[in-house]
Amino acid sequence: MIQQLRAMHGSPILEEADRLMTVCNSCRYCEGLCAVFPAMEMRRAFSDGDLNFLANLCHACGACYTDCQFSPPHEFNVNVPKTLAALRAESWAACAWPRALSGLFVRNGVAISIIAALSVAAFIFGFAAFIDPQVLLGVHTGPGAFYTLMPHNAMAALFGAAFLYAIFALAMGLRAFWRGLGGPSGTLPDPPSLWQAIRDAGQLRYLDGGGGGCFNEDERPTDRRRIYHHLTFYGFLLCFASTCVATLYHYLLGREAPYAWWDLPVVLGTLGGIGLVIGTTGLFAEKSKRDAALIDANSTGMDAAFTLMLFLTGLTGLTLLVWRETSAMGPLLALHLGVVFALFITLPYGKFVHGLYRYAALVRYAREQRAMTK
Ligand code: SF4
Ligand code: SF4
Repeated sequence: MIQQLRAMHGSPILEEADRLMTVCNSCRYCEGLCAVFPAMEMRRAFSDGDLNFLANLCHACGACYTDCQFSPPHEFNVNVPKTLAALRAESWAACAWPRALSGLFVRNGVAISIIAALSVAAFIFGFAAFIDPQVLLGVHTGPGAFYTLMPHNAMAALFGAAFLYAIFALAMGLRAFWRGLGGPSGTLPDPPSLWQAIRDAGQLRYLDGGGGGCFNEDERPTDRRRIYHHLTFYGFLLCFASTCVATLYHYLLGREAPYAWWDLPVVLGTLGGIGLVIGTTGLFAEKSKRDAALIDANSTGMDAAFTLMLFLTGLTGLTLLVWRETSAMGPLLALHLGVVFALFITLPYGKFVHGLYRYAALVRYAREQRAMTK
C-alpha cells in the first residue's frame, strides 16, 4: 500500500528520501525534533519539490538518527540525516546557474582547490609582474597605502564584477530552487513568514536536536556545532559589513583605507575575522569527530572546501591587518585578495548556497504553519 502511494522520482536519492519519509510519516516518533517532521506530516505523498524542501529544512543535527528504532542495523535502514544531506547536495547542483556549471558541485573540493590556487597564483604573479620590487616589498603607511600596490579603481572593478556575478548567479539559483519547491510567487508580500524565517535561521533553531543539542560523535548532545556555526556565520556577516562600511567611507567621506585599529571597518573586520577563524576551526574539529553514519561521503569535499575558504579569508585578513605596516604588506595583500576573489566567484557553486536555500525552505515552512493556524 505504502509502495503504491509513493511517486516515481528522478534519482535514486529522491527515491530513498521518499521511502524514508513514507516510513517516518507512519511512525512520527520524531515530530518534536525539528521542522522537517511537522512539514512531512502535512503531506501524504512526496513530490520531488516536497523532498527537496524537506532536505533543505534539515539542519543535520543527527537527533532523528540517534533516536530512531529503525536505524541500521534494522532492516528498514532509516538514516534521515545522511539521506537528506545527499539530497540537499543534489538539489543545489540541479539549481546551479548557468546549468553548465552544475558539475562544479560534483568533486567540489577539487574544483574549489584548483580555482583558489589559480586565483592566489594570479594575484601573486600579477603583483610580481606589474609592481616594482622596491614598491612591492616597501613599507607603505597612511591613507591609500594599499592602492600604491593595486589602484583602487582596478580593485573595485575586479571585485565588484566578481561580487555582482556571484549575486546574480545566486539569485538565479534561488529562483530555480523556489520554483522547484512549487513555492508560491506571492511570498515577498508576506513579511511575517520572511521575519519568522530570519529568526529561525539567525538562531539556528533546528540545530538543537529538539532542545538537547546536536548529536555529532556519540549519543551525548552538545551545542558545539551550533556555537561554531554561529561564530562562522556572524563572522562572515561582520566581514561583509566591514567591506560595506569601508566602501561608504571611500565614496561618501573620501576616506581611503587602511584605517586605524579603532575605526569601524577595522573593528568589524577584526571581530569578523576572529569569528571566521575560530568558528571554522571548531567546525573542522567537529567534522573530524562526526559519526561516519551521519555523513554523506560525497559532500565531504564540498563541506571542507567551503569551510577552508572561510578560514583562509579570516586568517589572511587578520595577518594582513597585523603586518600591514611592514614590508610583508604587498605579498600578504596579494594572498588575501587571491583568497577573497576565489571565495567570491565560487560562492554560487558550493556549500554557501545552503544558507540561501535553507532560508527559502524556512520561509515556506513558516507560510505553511501560518496557513494551518488561520
Ligand atoms: S527517524 Fe525513525 S523514529 Fe524518527 S520518525 Fe522516522 S522512522 Fe520514526
Ligand atoms: S534537523 Fe535533525 S532531527 Fe531534523 S531531520 Fe535533520 S537530522 Fe533529523
